[in-house]
Amino acid sequence: MLLYRSERFLEHDPGPAHPESPGRLRPVLASLEQRPEPGVRPVGDWAPATRAMLERVHTPAYVGRLEATAGRRVRLDPDTWTSPASWEVARLASGAAVAAVEAVVRGEDAHAFVLSRPPGHHAEADAALGFCLLNHAAVAAAHARQALGLERVLVADPDVHHGNGTQAIFYADPTVLYVSSHRLPFYPGTGWPQETGAGPGEGFTLNLPLRAGDGDEAFLRAWTEEAEPRILAFQPELILVSAGFDTWKGDPLGGLAVTEAGFRAFASRVHAWARTCCPGRAVWILEGGYDPAGIEAGVRAALRSGAAG
Ligand SMILES: [Zn+2]
Repeated sequence: MLLYRSERFLEHDPGPAHPESPGRLRPVLASLEQRPEPGVRPVGDWAPATRAMLERVHTPAYVGRLEATAGRRVRLDPDTWTSPASWEVARLASGAAVAAVEAVVRGEDAHAFVLSRPPGHHAEADAALGFCLLNHAAVAAAHARQALGLERVLVADPDVHHGNGTQAIFYADPTVLYVSSHRLPFYPGTGWPQETGAGPGEGFTLNLPLRAGDGDEAFLRAWTEEAEPRILAFQPELILVSAGFDTWKGDPLGGLAVTEAGFRAFASRVHAWARTCCPGRAVWILEGGYDPAGIEAGVRAALRSGAAG
């Protein structure tokens, strides 16, 4: 399993007391350095996403607005700020997702984990939202489709929040199946079961709401009983995981109660789908998670499960 990680992801700083801080990731990077998972190959060098890659899913006007924040601290929505390095760091995160998809499709390794920030799944085609500047999973899915010629891509999103941006970007697209479990009602307010896609994309969005306090059982039931048959019927050629770990029992924002065992069971399902559908190809991209212990538990579960199969 490949692990895309960089100290540069610590340079995006939304400001004091913001939950999406460099402190989310710093202890996880240090711990993985001290106690690496067997079978994991770290990758530290790749190119930032180009404007053409970003503009497959974001409007040129929005990409221009974001680029204009370079070197500055700008408030883009009530929860979302840039710092001077944010434009470069966000492009580096999208670039890591693209590089990971290319490596996995080339067969360099079956699995990859992109340990990046800021997160991406709330970012819409023309707007930053909910700590997210660029939608890395969407950029990676569009790259797999348009540059690498894959016909069907799954985005599995177990973050505690609904990935409104990813859903909206592919809502009318039958080649990208978007499946999300998330707490409802909750931020950002979307992700109801009746949101199933539009036009040719009807039936290619699946939303699985969870209730406050739900733990491993409800979380895993959503993925094994409701998501799994749809995923296997879709037969993706690549699995992207919008890997949010704010379902963690100790997360200060999430309000669910998923444990390490839940993360391990979810990771082993992902790799089972990948083995069944798409010669094992799975790329995990970090989304939310505001307790470093929860992020570490989730990341290690994905790395172990990936290294094992
Ligand atoms: Zn989240």
